[in-house]
Amino acid sequence: MRWTSRAFGLTLGRVDPLIKELIGIVGKGAVLSERDELLVYECDGLPQHKYAPRAVVFPKSTEEVALVIRALARSKVPVAPRGAGTGLSGGAVALNSGVVIELARMRKLLMIDPEHRIARVETGFINAHVSRAAAGYGLYYAPDPSSQAACTIGGNIAENAGGIHCLKYGTTVDHILSARVVLQGGEVVELQSPEEGGPGYDLLGLFVGSEGTFGICTEATLRLSPNPQSVRTLLADFLESDNASRAVSAIIAAGLVPAALEMIDGAIIRAVEASAFAAGLRRNAGFAIEAFRQNAGESRLADPPRTGEQVRVVQPLLLERVPQCPDDMLLPHQAAEVPRPPFAGKYLIAHR
Ligand SMILES: Cc1cc2nc3c(=O)[nH]c(=O)nc-3n(C[C@H](O)[C@H](O)[C@H](O)COP(=O)(O)OP(=O)(O)OC[C@H]3O[C@@H](n4cnc5c(N)ncnc54)[C@H](O)[C@@H]3O)c2cc1C
Repeated sequence: MRWTSRAFGLTLGRVDPLIKELIGIVGKGAVLSERDELLVYECDGLPQHKYAPRAVVFPKSTEEVALVIRALARSKVPVAPRGAGTGLSGGAVALNSGVVIELARMRKLLMIDPEHRIARVETGFINAHVSRAAAGYGLYYAPDPSSQAACTIGGNIAENAGGIHCLKYGTTVDHILSARVVLQGGEVVELQSPEEGGPGYDLLGLFVGSEGTFGICTEATLRLSPNPQSVRTLLADFLESDNASRAVSAIIAAGLVPAALEMIDGAIIRAVEASAFAAGLRRNAGFAIEAFRQNAGESRLADPPRTGEQVRVVQPLLLERVPQCPDDMLLPHQAAEVPRPPFAGKYLIAHR
């Protein structure tokens, strides 16, 4: 087969001048343009839509990002920023033979300031590595998408990512303090939200969640949170989804904000029970609820109830939804107050 398309960086043996220009900016080892090298960049976590980019560029600094953006703008070539490519909406895919700007090589931890509870990172830094870096100071980074072992802070900012704990702690937008952004014309700006109630537009808030369409974020300052002082976990299984749903509503209606609340369906329960993570749920159960509660030392609640109190409120709410529940199914004395790791603890199990 003969490749005549510019999409693969070659035009009948001649090196694409744009690729040459990009190599001039970032170096030879930082541009991919061969067809087989580009295959992995055809899609993100949504493999239904595949488009081969014209090239993939790996800048190592904000300055290189700006130069690349300017070169592509001059040539009117579309750009798609990319972090780890775990996105599920096709955002990191370059349409119309565009160029992917891959931030994976910009992954430095620039600073941790435990006194002010902040960290500054390059945006190719992986989400879970922020908490790992902060752990020695008793701090962690709250936004926890399930993909956190792989996804990058840049991708999190672009998608306003959040995970199981966002019910209580919010999503990325609640934990980012400033961002260095290369705009479409190559200008570099530092975005910050105005003081609460202060004048000015919240451009940082606008940028977070804009899916890479407003510019490329190269550095960000993140808010760190203190590790929880105690953790309690409640787990209950239900045979009917209606009962499980009512239990969720009752917990929220009781005015408590659990750190996380999750329903798991029967197929997943059976998979978990067949694994090393078996929690003692009935394998024929239809639904389960986990209510993790924690006192994180600091909370948006003015006077957060301690975890023990929260559990005492929630237990009867769960029990009410299962009138036949045998008395010995709830085992409060087995609950453990554990300072670390943040979201572990013994389960209180109620079968419904
Ligand atoms: C198994 C799995 C579980 C997941 N769980 C969750 C979850 O619990 N919660 C959740 O919110 N999401 C979840 N996701 C989706 C995805 O992981 C998140 O959206 C994550 O934030 C994407 O990060 P990334 O580094 O992979 O970004 P990519 O997929 O590479 O890019 C995502 C978007 O961000 C843009 N982008 C990337 N880097 C930058 C940058 N530096 N500047 C500007 N724009 C940029 C891209 O152009 C694209 O539009 C999950 C995905 C998978 C595969």
